[in-house]
Amino acid sequence: MDVKNLIILGSGPAAYTAAIYAARANLFPILFEGFMSGPIGGQLMTTTEIENFPGFPSGILGAKLMENMQEQSKKFGTTLLKEDCVKVDFSKKPFNIQGTSNEFLTNSVIIATGANAKKLDIPGAGEKEFWQKGVTACAICDGAAPIFRDKVLFVIGGGDTAVEEAIFLTKYGKKVYIVHRRDELKASKIMAQRAIKHPKIEILWNSEIVAIKGSDFVEIVDIKNNKTNKITSMQAAGVFFAIGHKPNTDFLDHQVDMLPNGYIKVEKGSTRTSVKGVFAAGDVQDPIYRQAITAAGSGCMAALDVEKYLSEEGYIL
Ligand code: NAP
Repeated sequence: MDVKNLIILGSGPAAYTAAIYAARANLFPILFEGFMSGPIGGQLMTTTEIENFPGFPSGILGAKLMENMQEQSKKFGTTLLKEDCVKVDFSKKPFNIQGTSNEFLTNSVIIATGANAKKLDIPGAGEKEFWQKGVTACAICDGAAPIFRDKVLFVIGGGDTAVEEAIFLTKYGKKVYIVHRRDELKASKIMAQRAIKHPKIEILWNSEIVAIKGSDFVEIVDIKNNKTNKITSMQAAGVFFAIGHKPNTDFLDHQVDMLPNGYIKVEKGSTRTSVKGVFAAGDVQDPIYRQAITAAGSGCMAALDVEKYLSEEGYIL
């Protein structure tokens, strides 16, 4: 089997940006875009209009942005494979990468498999129910949509993301409820105080949304107080999950070092992982910023790190 320069795993902004840079550097990258593991294009495929990606002053649909990045990576010679990477072997060089149909040996790897927002299995929140019809997992991406303007909105969670998203949503909604399962926020003190003091935010403590109802879009949520078991129905136009993210790293079988929260550990200021020749970019190594633009930036960094590595190790001239 011949040995490739670079295999890229993932199909979000980090993966395609890495591919654009690597392909332009004549590394002839092969990119596993995934298939069963989630939508090709990653999390942006589940959003609507993106207004904060620089260069698109009128906004751009998430799916269109990803289609453009995919096309751009292909234009410069990236081989795109519509399959999942199911197994890696980083124990010896060249590394072995197994997909559902193809297998490769490679001198370097960029892991850019992203993270997925955790969702709750609440009746009404499913794909064929009100998912993206008022129920979403990203207030920053979707909060400005007309269906949420001047409406009553609910954010589920008690961490920094929940508070940040609730504050963000106050720009659009007339009232924002944070629904938290405990009687204390997990968010940092300063963020928690901001939420508690905010005139448009109210926190529903010890509470869970147990049903989401409506006709075409979300109209009602049923909220259970888990201390009293009392269920209250409230008018609602939006339900935003903010209960954390899960990085997509199961297939790695812990062959690179990870942080306690499951994100891949990279050396500060670089995309180098604990395995020489293996790099990580985008949300899979970023529990903090998690934006399309930061993911794209780190994809660029990974491609430049790979090029330097391959050259230093004598794999390329
Ligand atoms: P997180 O800190 O893990 O908080 C998740 C929240 O969701 C917790 O309050 C948790 O409840 C709740 N939750 C989890 N599973 C749930 C379930 N099944 N049902 C109901 N509630 C559930 O996640 P995060 O808020 O996304 O933050 C992730 C990391 O990013 C943190 O380190 C955070 O500090 C950082 N971050 C920082 C900023 C900032 O500094 N501006 C902004 C966003 C995120 P419990 O409290 O009961 O566990």
